[in-house]
This record gives sequence, C-alpha cells and structure tokens, in this order.
Amino acid sequence: MRYVPLLLPLALSLAVSTAYADEAPVQPRAQPSLLALSTAPSEAELHATIAKLVSFGTRHTLSDTTSDKRGIGAARRWVKSQFEAISKECGGCIEVVTPSQVFTGKRVPQPTEVMDVVAIKRGKTDPKRVIVMTGHLDSRVTDVMNAKSDAPGANDDASGVAALMEAARLLSKQDNDATLVFAALSGEEQGLYGGKVLADYAVQQGWQVQADLNNDIVGNSHGQNGVLDNTTVRIFSEGTKSNETPEQAKYRAYHGGEVDSPSRNVARYMEQIGSTYLPDLRVHMVYRTDRYSRGGDQVPFLEAGYPGVRVTEGHEDYTRQHQDLRTDKGIKYGDTIDGVDFRYLARVTALNTVTMAALSRAPAPPSGVSTEGALATDTTVHWKKVPGAAGYVVHWRDTTAPQWQYSRSVGDVDQAVIKDVVIDDWFFGVSAVSAEGYESPVVFPGDAGSFERSPAPKSP
Ligand SMILES: [Zn+2]
Repeated sequence: MRYVPLLLPLALSLAVSTAYADEAPVQPRAQPSLLALSTAPSEAELHATIAKLVSFGTRHTLSDTTSDKRGIGAARRWVKSQFEAISKECGGCIEVVTPSQVFTGKRVPQPTEVMDVVAIKRGKTDPKRVIVMTGHLDSRVTDVMNAKSDAPGANDDASGVAALMEAARLLSKQDNDATLVFAALSGEEQGLYGGKVLADYAVQQGWQVQADLNNDIVGNSHGQNGVLDNTTVRIFSEGTKSNETPEQAKYRAYHGGEVDSPSRNVARYMEQIGSTYLPDLRVHMVYRTDRYSRGGDQVPFLEAGYPGVRVTEGHEDYTRQHQDLRTDKGIKYGDTIDGVDFRYLARVTALNTVTMAALSRAPAPPSGVSTEGALATDTTVHWKKVPGAAGYVVHWRDTTAPQWQYSRSVGDVDQAVIKDVVIDDWFFGVSAVSAEGYESPVVFPGDAGSFERSPAPKSP
C-alpha cells in the first residue's frame, strides 16, 4: 500500500484570511513501520539484560577486567557477545568495535584503559551520516573510588544499556539509510571518559554525527518524593553550541538562536516523535544541557562539535543512585533491579528506537540555511539541497514558543518566500523530507543552528 507523503501541502488549500493561520501546525503523518516499532520493545528482553548486568557484581571502571564473572571486563565481553549474536541473526549486518584509550585523572589514579563496546549498522545510502545512541556500562557506590563493593547500577545505567541493546536488536531487522551506532560506554562515573573515547572515534572515522541520544537513568518511574509517574521522560538539550566562537556568539546574541542549537532541534524532533507515535508518553523538553550541576556522556559529543541530548526519567530517586547497598533509618538504599519499572523503560526505549529509525530514513538536515527579509513584509529562506530529499518544509514559530508551530511544504527547491510573514517577528527553520515522507529535524539558520560539525576553535 502506498501512503500519501508528507509533502502534499494540504494546508495550503484552506483559504484563511490571516497571514499565517493558513498553515497547519506541524503534524507529521504517522508512518506504519514507525507505528509498529513504537510498541516493539520487549520488557522481557530489557529485564534479562539488566539482570545479567547486575549479576557482574560491580561494573566500576577500575574493577576487575580479567574475571568472567565479576567486574567491568566481564560485562563488556558479555555486551560484545550480545551484539555479535544480534548480528548473526541479521546476516552480519552489525560490526562490533571496541575503541579504547588509557586515562589518568582525579578519579583514575593509575593509568586505566577505558573501553567502549560499539555496534555499528552501516547506512545503505548515507553511511557517513551517523545517529548514535549511548548509555554507560560502568556503575558505582557512595565512594566513587570503591571498585570492590557490589554496585548493581540497575537504573544507572544498566537501564540505558538495556535500552540501546534492545534498540539494536529491533533496528537490526530494519533498513536504514544513515548509519546507526549503539554504544555501551565505560568511565562515565570517573569523568565522562567513555563519551570522549567514542566522540574521538567518531572524529577519526569522519562521521557526521547528526545526534547522540544519551540514555542515562531511564528506568525508574518512582520519584524520591513519592511521585509515581510512568508517562514522563525528560530530554535535556543545550541552547547554544558548547564550542561556539566569540564571533558566532556575538552574531547570535543580536539575531537570535540562543534556543535553537541543533541539539535543541533534536529534542524538538523527539517531542514530535513522542506526540505522534507514543501518545502515552510525555516528552518533557528541558532547556538545559543536563540536570543542574550534573553531566552525562553527551557532553564530550557537544564539545567535539556534534549535536547530542540527554534522555532521562521524569522523576529521580536519589536513594537509588550512587549508594552503598544498605538500610538506614528504614530507608533502603542502592540501585537494585526492583527499582526498575520495565513497562516505563520499554516506552522510553520505543521513543529512542522510533527516533533513530525516523532520523536514519529521513534525508540529512539541510545545510547552509539562511534567511533574509529586513525592511520587507515577506521572509525568504535559503538552503542547500541534500541527497535523498524529495522536498523541503519551511517551519516558523513565535519567538517565545517552545515548538515549531507553522509549516509550509515548498517542494524540491532551495529557497522559498513566505509571503506576509515578517522576519522580525518569527523564528524560521527548514527541514528535508524524503519521497516516503520521512522528515529531518528542523535547522535554524546560520552557525547557531547548523548540524554541520563545528570543531572546537584552535587556541592561538
Ligand atoms: Zn549515569
């Protein structure tokens, strides 16, 4: 069956008098294959993965690497074996690599090899464009240097690793135009080292990383304050690029773009995916790189000039994070598997899986986006065409609106005039759409919004 692509400008046929009210709000048409993926994640698979990861006792970055039963080495080898098993099922569709670096640092007193376990499913038509999903394998207790005590890390972050392994299993059976990467990182608790290892690897490989979806603490629906909420997931995203140059910052401060980094537009994309495909899950966008004073493995990606977001549960329970296993004044402390809500984790896994599938089937986000229209009553948007796009959609929103509000399909062109929409009063962006109707994230004009990798400026 053939379904109608998103490109048909059905909104345009409605004659409405005001300048912008003739545009329907952004409402992607649901893709049947994405709808199917939205209910595909298996609670049983997620449970089995977390139970196995917990069984390694501790997965502390400085723990034993030689035992087959206990420690980070055994956990890494098991994840690798699982990725290889998934690959066997799909005729070798997945490569498994284990990039590593040796670090010494404040929380790594002796030189220690930090190794990531990375599954790569190459894209069919656009293999250099890469969508990444990360979680961290390492775990900890109260003392961050304690590599001996049991540190189950069921939620922080076996939940993220289980989610990415389940996404890999599901997406191994699907076509992807861009490359998909599923990475179980190490060294997070000692200083985000595994994120750096993978970001460096991406740069060396010449990957154009379109997004890192970093899933860290994604399986608990029970807040420490007693709130029970299995319907909210938070997406944290930076507003301006981590490595913006002073010149770019100056331009952006005057013209706007402080809430339109590519990472932010990935967050908006996920919010849209959520409302289209997972009506029972509320994607709560937070306009901040990560939780207050806390970090995650998306940060080394941002520093390397790649977009990235942090996916995390709606309500955290700090009695379950970074704690020695104990009972104190009637409170049970520790990150044990009974604190994981597997139905909730399956929904968060679905959000990631559908997002990865959608991004990998859509064309690349347009590059070279710019706008003009000063002293005019129309706005003109320009961009460079991208391979695989059948057409483009110009989006705009009120400058105080969190999500894109209006859109117009403009066909397979590289510029469009939006009549009677004054540039001063709106933020604009453009997305690319495939013939099947898969849409890229929206790109805000200029350096502030570009998805092109922006390497850190060289120090003089
Ligand atoms: Zn964590």
